[in-house]
Amino acid sequence: MTLDAAELARLDRAHIIHPYLPGTATERVVMTEGAGCRLTDTEGRSYLDATGGLWLAQIGHGRTDLADVAHEQMKKLEYFTSFWDFSNERAIELASRLAELAPDPLNHVYYTSGGSEGVEAAIKMARYYHHRRGESSRTWILARSKAYHGVGYGGSSAAGFPLYQEGFAPMVPHVSHLTPPWPYRTELYGDQAATPQDVTDFLIRELEERIAEIGPGNIAAMVGEPIMGVGGMLVPPADYWPRVREVLDRHGILLIFDEVVTAYGRVGEWFAAQYFDTTPDIIVTAKGITSGYVPLGALLVGDHVAEALLREQGFPMGYTYNGHPVATAVALANLDVIEKEGLLARATAMGAFLHAELQSQLGELEVVGEVRSVGMMLAVELVADKATREPLPLDPERMPHDVIRRETGVIVRDSAHSLVLSPPLIMTEAEAKEAAGALRGVLERTE
Ligand code: PLP
Repeated sequence: MTLDAAELARLDRAHIIHPYLPGTATERVVMTEGAGCRLTDTEGRSYLDATGGLWLAQIGHGRTDLADVAHEQMKKLEYFTSFWDFSNERAIELASRLAELAPDPLNHVYYTSGGSEGVEAAIKMARYYHHRRGESSRTWILARSKAYHGVGYGGSSAAGFPLYQEGFAPMVPHVSHLTPPWPYRTELYGDQAATPQDVTDFLIRELEERIAEIGPGNIAAMVGEPIMGVGGMLVPPADYWPRVREVLDRHGILLIFDEVVTAYGRVGEWFAAQYFDTTPDIIVTAKGITSGYVPLGALLVGDHVAEALLREQGFPMGYTYNGHPVATAVALANLDVIEKEGLLARATAMGAFLHAELQSQLGELEVVGEVRSVGMMLAVELVADKATREPLPLDPERMPHDVIRRETGVIVRDSAHSLVLSPPLIMTEAEAKEAAGALRGVLERTE
């Protein structure tokens, strides 16, 4: 059955519930092909993918080498029953590879099919770890405003936006939200805050106070994105995570890094844990582990946590697709590409290049408050007034990222009042200039 563009759009509207898209929306962009950083839709229009799919297309689109690996593995063994009493070659190879790449003592892997499942597993692991060690009172989870942790009930409860909670209540109890690190918005940290050091001091004081309020013996874990993605690419001061780690250690509270966006090269290291020189107890990963070629997630778990989980009858939580052979085979091939093509170093270099382009093309515009980045995670924060940093009022009918896509074919995302870019790590300098030029063309007309 070959359907034309108009018929596909009609059937899409008739039958598909898209997340976040109101039924009244008429526009549909139906993608058919991808190669490198380029995409083509059913009308033959070409796009530049400056969001890397959804923060994940590390190696770019259309790699037939990954398709071949999936094909071969499917022909050999596509799947076989529960992962609790059986294993498979590719899942074992990938787990030992991940244990090598991750900081010590994160030597154990628990597989999921994506990031949301991963966050649920991490929260359950943290509570279960304490339960197994005789501290069942440790049930509280510390999270942060502006956080995004996927769509499960645990992740939605930890999320720092009312959008993920309103209408879905009751949420998971025993979740407490702290202030996010967002150095550009010094007003969040009291009158005196001026430097990144002041921001960290404020946040550490708040953390200590919250732990004292709830009682350290009641807290299982703190969960956080090392750099907050959906919240608008919020990069903490360099000393934030090491100091958080030190406080949590003192109180026996686990640290969970949600690295669904930041892992596998996006920040120029395999994990943001390495970038921030902070080793959490559990790292949740997904997305970039396969560059999106097939769904997969993997939790990297510390020896001490695994030891508690593996006692008695083991960790009582299993999915149909834990350690899927095809997904793990594709992940191995994806990690090979990242390694062989030097994409960690490339993320650092191209990220710096794109940052410099954005800064030089947009920095002077009245609506641009700040350009910030780490590796290939970049954001342009939009303001009504550079001096007061008041956020730019946005018209839902004419959101800047929609206008940019329609007018220039460059795909960027919006996150709160920021435009965010997370391109494939293989982006070229010409493509980086094109992306920055597209933003400038639209933003210089935005007031
Ligand atoms: N955690 C973070 C930080 C994310 O950004 C996302 C997705 O964007 C998730 C979790 C959820 O992952 P998934 O959409 O694969 O379920």
